[in-house]
Amino acid sequence: MPIQSKLPEVGTTIFTIMSKMASDYQAINLSQGYPGFNCDPHLIELVYKYMKEGKNQYAPMSGVPLLRERLVEKTKKVYGVDYDSESEVTIVSGATDAIYSAVTSIVKPGDEVILLEPAYDCYAPAIKLCGGIPVYVPLNLPDFSIHWNSVKDALSDKTRLIMVNTPHNPSGYMWTKEDLENLAQLIVDKDIYVISDEVYEHITFDGRKHLSMMTHPVLKERTFVCGSFGKTFHVTGWKIGYCLAPEEMTREFRKVHQFVTFSTATPLQYALAEYLEDEHHYLELPDFYQKKRDLFCEGLRETELLFTPAQGSFFQQVSYGHLSKESDFDLAVRWTKEIGVASIPISVFFKNKNDHKILRFCFAKLDEELEKAIKIIQKSKLF
Ligand code: GLN
Repeated sequence: MPIQSKLPEVGTTIFTIMSKMASDYQAINLSQGYPGFNCDPHLIELVYKYMKEGKNQYAPMSGVPLLRERLVEKTKKVYGVDYDSESEVTIVSGATDAIYSAVTSIVKPGDEVILLEPAYDCYAPAIKLCGGIPVYVPLNLPDFSIHWNSVKDALSDKTRLIMVNTPHNPSGYMWTKEDLENLAQLIVDKDIYVISDEVYEHITFDGRKHLSMMTHPVLKERTFVCGSFGKTFHVTGWKIGYCLAPEEMTREFRKVHQFVTFSTATPLQYALAEYLEDEHHYLELPDFYQKKRDLFCEGLRETELLFTPAQGSFFQQVSYGHLSKESDFDLAVRWTKEIGVASIPISVFFKNKNDHKILRFCFAKLDEELEKAIKIIQKSKLF
């Protein structure tokens, strides 16, 4: 029986498409965003330890208390902000779960939700499944900064939610103090919530500090802050993250989350609680990834491609519009097949697939692999 699709415009995600193509053509896969190296063996030992100890049944719906407490301690240490581990913290199966559950707890049919474009791919489908209407506000290119007057113009009586992402995927742009202040001023006297996707919170460069929405009092009281242990501890396949939000918002959030996944893998939660005791495990991330960003950018400097080193995230965007008219999608596919380096065309992050002739490369890979990719890019006939 044919289904009348609720998401007629949605197909297989670009990340799945490009990773499969990279594998089919044995290309170096700098497309889908995941580390190309293993996590700390100690973290794996901890999971094994807790499995052997019998931590193998359902975790509490809101998360293992010890992990929630550790997360609260980390949040206090890193951002100087307090959350109540009992009523304001929920452990979820990845930031994707956090974002879906947060959208679903807020958005009713006909509600408008502001998205800053380019936007990560899971935001709009979640809104649409709730009957909400995404309202797109373009970011300023080439630096992907926010045009606050455009955000203001996009607000209406129906605006219920704004979704933000810093450090930003795909551009690496990081919010400034002024950005936080501008958002706060726009919504302080309105019934508008915020979902803040902060999965790259610990991957920041050149001494920049991540500015979480929770650090602004006006924003804290209306924001679902979504995070991912997958990004921070190199375990994207574990699909484990968290949502921090004020008590009343968390109550509604949990009503949804409990029927999306109910709870999240128990031994992983105990392992992460113990692993979080050592702050070096997340504080060393900027240095670790900056070396990779710099290695990749150094190599790019020897080419005619244009780029500004990413401020945060593990993605580097590269412009080629001055060299070719080929679409970013065609180029990403062609390079995967012909030169053996896979990337993501950033047009896929736009509703209308606007082609700015920019590719996104993930540099969360082994140095050898990055060096190999760079050599290929330097030596191949690119256009
Ligand atoms: N967030 C990852 C990226 O941007 C992809 C995750 C996924 O494949 N869903 O590449």
